[in-house]
Amino acid sequence: MPWYRDGLRFGCIDCGGCCRTHGQDDEYAFVYLSGKDVDAICAHLGLERIDFLNQHCRHDRDGWVHLSRVKGDCNFLNAEGRCLIYSVRPRQCDAWPFWTENLDSARWHGPVKDCCPGIGRGRLYTAEEIDKIATDRDAWYDDDE
Ligand code: SF4
Ligand code: SF4
Repeated sequence: MPWYRDGLRFGCIDCGGCCRTHGQDDEYAFVYLSGKDVDAICAHLGLERIDFLNQHCRHDRDGWVHLSRVKGDCNFLNAEGRCLIYSVRPRQCDAWPFWTENLDSARWHGPVKDCCPGIGRGRLYTAEEIDKIATDRDAWYDDDE
């Protein structure tokens, strides 16, 4: 059984912290996009793919596309700390904080908790729910590779 077998509490308070570069060595700096994310955001914004990629994205050397940032903040974070594309936000954002790499006790109680005041409050997610969110998110990006 995982260390979170009794579940984990999480309740977002809309502070926008996870939309800003954070963590040691800016380890949480990138919002990666799958092709499906790109399609959904383009449809939402009424932009052609090429225009969206040119205006809002950067490419990693390993081929991944990620959202560009403005002084460390996600390009789509507005001045009030709200996401401008919330209804079509990338799966990575939707799945936060239940990422596979975050489901390590030291990481969860360390850098994840440090940057996200929603950790430890709000709804209790069961271990099964948490695992499903994490594995669905992994598959979302794996399908794109
Ligand atoms: S850092 Fe946590 S509480 Fe703040 S917006 Fe992100 S998920 Fe919500
Ligand atoms: S896309 Fe939206 S939810 Fe995701 S990091 Fe940017 S502002 Fe935050």
